[in-house]
Amino acid sequence: MREIIYDKQGAAGRVNEASSDFVYERFFDFYNAPSTVIPSPSSLGQRELGFLLFKERIMLRHRVFARISDLRTFLGEEVPSDVYRSCAYYENPAVEMDKKGWLGADLVFDIDADHIPTPCDKIHDKWTCTKCGFSGKGITPETCPVCEGQKFDAKTWACDQCLEAAKTETAKLIDMLSMDFGFSDNEMHAFFSGHRGYHVHVENEAVKTLDAIARKEIVDYVTGLGLAVFNNKAKGGSRRRRRSRGFSLHDFGWNRRLKLGLRNFISNATKEDLANAGVKRNSAVILRNKELILKRCIEEGRWSSVKGVSVGTWRRLSEYVKDLESSKIDTVVTTDTHRLIRMNGTLHGKTGLKKIEFSIKRLADFDPFEEAVAFKEGEVKVFVSDVPEFRLGGNVFGPYRSQTVEVPTAAAVLLIRKGRAEVAS
Ligand SMILES: [Zn+2]
Ligand SMILES: [Zn+2]
Repeated sequence: MREIIYDKQGAAGRVNEASSDFVYERFFDFYNAPSTVIPSPSSLGQRELGFLLFKERIMLRHRVFARISDLRTFLGEEVPSDVYRSCAYYENPAVEMDKKGWLGADLVFDIDADHIPTPCDKIHDKWTCTKCGFSGKGITPETCPVCEGQKFDAKTWACDQCLEAAKTETAKLIDMLSMDFGFSDNEMHAFFSGHRGYHVHVENEAVKTLDAIARKEIVDYVTGLGLAVFNNKAKGGSRRRRRSRGFSLHDFGWNRRLKLGLRNFISNATKEDLANAGVKRNSAVILRNKELILKRCIEEGRWSSVKGVSVGTWRRLSEYVKDLESSKIDTVVTTDTHRLIRMNGTLHGKTGLKKIEFSIKRLADFDPFEEAVAFKEGEVKVFVSDVPEFRLGGNVFGPYRSQTVEVPTAAAVLLIRKGRAEVAS
């Protein structure tokens, strides 16, 4: 069964034949090199595999491989631009969707700079509506503000700032999965996606059979959706007692996160930070009484004990802190129990970088622009249209604009696949 997939973010665009041949040959070499390691997912034979082919830009789906060596042979022959495998386990992954016999699925999270507003996206990301030609900078909208079209040519870039932002969200997610859900480091697997973000997979018997609704509950928890912050609707007792009871933040889950987050925020807050949190009128009171507020309000839970800092202020601050503490995951990935996700160890078609797993303990030190580099030999001359300064494999390149430069293979593949360069003739 062959299906065409429509790629919202746009493929590499049209490049000259020398460029597409060059990229194809590098991918061919990678998948045929004996040194290339592609770790087998657990229960490979129960997974559906999918492949995006270079030339046809079509998706081959519903493939199944009993052994990783069979898959290696296939990859060496077909040389796909992208390789995916299901998060789900099936009785028979090769048949059509509703006959597969769903047995369960890993719990997966996708954190992508595409969904995180960063100061740099206005600098290096541009989108153009393919229907009316309207264009803008920053995150690609869902629908065109002019014609409501939904297809865009997007030119994005992945810079250090983007990947750092994604890493911060990943760290918050992992902290929740471990502290609040109790998953162990062995059950959680962290990956660089090969492009603009990170994936976290949880493999555990308890999550395996969760349906989409249960997964949505987990998504809501992680994103803080529907969290009743400072809910003082508790009944009984005096008004003051009701308040203090309603606002007591105990030391578990979101309560703990809010408490730590509020403490952290107030300790470091400037006038501007408070204004961003929607607190303007009484910001001077807060800035003058930081120590007192930390002790009386946050430590002792006496929220109304500092004059000029009202319950309304706390509600506003905690809504803001909730946003800071929640993790900006791509919610649809987690709730989709049939999702195909890029396979570990394979190349990302938009960058030529590898999706790779790293130990959760190494998250802070992990460097995608060093560790995910797949092509380590050779240099090539490319004509670059426009690219900001970037870092790859221990070197810093650019910025380049309408110029021919000689760069290492990995940088050339990245530039070509991101639609920023062509092999120079
Ligand atoms: Zn439009
Ligand atoms: Zn960036």
